[in-house]
Amino acid sequence: MEDFEYYSALEIDRNASAEEIKRAYRKMALKYHPDKNQNNPEAEARFKQINEAYQVLSDENKRSLYDRYGRAGLNSHGGGGGFETMFEDFADVFDSFFGGSRRRQGTRSREQLDIAVELEISFFEAVFGCKKSVRYRYAKPCIACGGTGGVRKTCGYCSGRGQVYQRQGFMTFSQTCPKCRGQGSVLETLCKECSGKGSIVVDDEIDITIPEGVDRGQRLRVSGKGNVGAGGARGDLYVLIDVAEDAAFVRRENDIYVEAPVFFTMCALGGEIEMATLRGKRTLEIPRGTRDRAQIVLNGEGVKSLNGSMTGDMIVQVKIVYPAKLTAEQEDLLRKLHESFGAEGTTHTGFFDEIFNRVKGWFR
Ligand SMILES: [Zn+2]
Ligand SMILES: [Zn+2]
Repeated sequence: MEDFEYYSALEIDRNASAEEIKRAYRKMALKYHPDKNQNNPEAEARFKQINEAYQVLSDENKRSLYDRYGRAGLNSHGGGGGFETMFEDFADVFDSFFGGSRRRQGTRSREQLDIAVELEISFFEAVFGCKKSVRYRYAKPCIACGGTGGVRKTCGYCSGRGQVYQRQGFMTFSQTCPKCRGQGSVLETLCKECSGKGSIVVDDEIDITIPEGVDRGQRLRVSGKGNVGAGGARGDLYVLIDVAEDAAFVRRENDIYVEAPVFFTMCALGGEIEMATLRGKRTLEIPRGTRDRAQIVLNGEGVKSLNGSMTGDMIVQVKIVYPAKLTAEQEDLLRKLHESFGAEGTTHTGFFDEIFNRVKGWFR
């Protein structure tokens, strides 16, 4: 499959709203429609790309996958499941670690057994992985009352039916008994151990290994550490990862962005700076005539992807720094330098003249 970018295929930017995507798709699809472009293989190829791009970008799930992983994120996991599948696979590492692989049943009762806990880790912990102790609480049936909450008696309000009936004319309406909430029985005496809840809360702590490359918003499943149900089955614990911001490094997917202050004379003349990367230092060459906000890419200096298949880049964005103060001698030198450029030093004059001439054209 040839490589193309979905956003540029639709000629929109990455922040485009759902409405903008739809609009762009209509416009582009119309333009490259085969009916309008007969015997034009280029338009045909383009039409296919537009459709593929729209299929992904119009689907919120697929779009966020694509934003994070590119097309690889959509293709490499057997389709359908995408991101979630990836984590289910990934969670199997935990399954084997804790022994006994439990497959997700997807039933309603099963879902109530699953619990989640948030875990904030530092920027570098996420980038390089770490071991963490996670405190969490789970519920298990109260042994003292066998999960019943105490001694129960038949609900007097509904006579144990769980439903109450109301007659209006020739119609009979039924509703869930408000007193026993449909259970048919109410507690007569509360269990002292669980205060009638039928379950008790247990504080626990486990050590988990956070894999290298994990990012904000991802979750790790720790199999069999959730709530214990009445039948003894135990759910899973989900650890929701949050990552603290770093003062210098900004992460986007597996790429790292960092701003490098470079002195103005070095930007003009070119030179080398020592650059702090994630894994140490690297010499970065500043080409002659580097502009403000120019981006220099250090390949492979980013974050290793979760599945280990690739490593992102570090994108160094140059920030030109000017001296805070000038000595009389420096000012003199700069003035002489400026004058030595002659007309080139006043390029802006020509630039604005040209704009002015274009604008003037409208008044004729
Ligand atoms: Zn109890
Ligand atoms: Zn009742």
